[in-house]
Amino acid sequence: MGENKVAIITGASRGIGRACALELAKAGYDIAVSYAGNDEAANKTIDDLKALGVKAKAYKFNVADKEACTKATEEILSEFGGVDVLVNNAGITRDGLFMRMNAENWEAVINTNLNSAFYMSNAVIKTMVKQRSGCIINMSSIVGVMGNAGQANYSAAKAGLIGLTKTLAKELGSRNIRVNAIAPGFIQTDMTKDLDPEKMSEHIPLKRLGQPEDIAKTVKFLAQDGLYITGQVIGVDGGLVV
Ligand code: NAP
Repeated sequence: MGENKVAIITGASRGIGRACALELAKAGYDIAVSYAGNDEAANKTIDDLKALGVKAKAYKFNVADKEACTKATEEILSEFGGVDVLVNNAGITRDGLFMRMNAENWEAVINTNLNSAFYMSNAVIKTMVKQRSGCIINMSSIVGVMGNAGQANYSAAKAGLIGLTKTLAKELGSRNIRVNAIAPGFIQTDMTKDLDPEKMSEHIPLKRLGQPEDIAKTVKFLAQDGLYITGQVIGVDGGLVV
């Protein structure tokens, strides 16, 4: 492994994942950026990471595909020499009322938001166990905690991530691997571009939507060595869920 610590962040071309990549790069991490298809955004993120003086490389693959996750992770481990932090962040929405929800939209969301975390965690875990250290952060959501009309698929996936987080924390704590989840509220990214910020802010105690950097700061906090925190779900939502 090189001198720098290494972070793998899925869905890091844009939005929350990109902000996490930049924040960890500022803290001296080399970054493997995963993304689905937006080459332009991925290249821009890589340029911005390199400008911070760290190693950064983009990997285009579908996190909903187990074989693709395994292959990409093998490439990353060999290129970067190991991994200290995995952020399972890539996600999509396919909203609709449950009565009209088809299996395609159900499966796409479960595969991309939940199964991906199994595939990626599975692909790094032997390395982390061997090195007796590691940190996994799963990007859940407030709707995984409280549900949301029109998001049965997404809420189920995000709740599933919480169960995975708590179980992995119990299984892996003795190997010095910490596993936590973040439950963001409404964060201003492409995913939430149709929301009216002013209207939404009225319902948020801190009276503003979150920014990707709000989540990124929490990721950096959770990634710290020796932190006495595992199996937790950290709400970063301006006080929306208390
Ligand atoms: P975003 O702006 O839509 O960005 C999504 C990222 O995920 C992009 O980098 C995208 O890559 C990547 N991605 C999507 N599908 C993928 C796939 N199948 N394989 C690989 N990469 C894939 O989303 P965001 O708002 O930053 O959300 C990031 C995470 O936070 C998601 O898990 C989301 O559910 C969660 N979250 C967001 C909010 C919010 O308010 N924004 C709230 C709670 C939780 P391309 O650029 O190549 O498309």
